Amino acid sequence: MSKFEFNLNNTNWEIKETPKQWLIDKYNSEHDDKCTYVFGLCEYPTHIIHLNEELGIEQKIQTLRHELTHCWLWTMGASYETYTEEEVCNKVSAMCEFVFNTSKEYFKPPLSIVDYFGDISS
Ligand SMILES: [Zn+2]
Repeated sequence: MSKFEFNLNNTNWEIKETPKQWLIDKYNSEHDDKCTYVFGLCEYPTHIIHLNEELGIEQKIQTLRHELTHCWLWTMGASYETYTEEEVCNKVSAMCEFVFNTSKEYFKPPLSIVDYFGDISS
């Protein structure tokens, strides 16, 4: 897939599909709780959203929406004093226009999932 970039609050971000082991190593190098599987990562310093390249298409879509929500919250300077970031992401990703539109644009044809989203050309 060609490089996919978007701009949010005057910040350029990239979405890329990344090997599973790189994601696991990256996560474990930055967190005390170790993991054995990572669906995706929102890498704030480099402005890259990583999707685990081995996911199925519907899991990739769900993961991208979740990671875009991390991105959106971070660029908005959101506070997590009441909710955990994970709780906020799960709630906001279901309704956020930015998340929906960006994930729709990322997965537009020729990835052959036009049937999933319908015709986005109009
Ligand atoms: Zn998350």
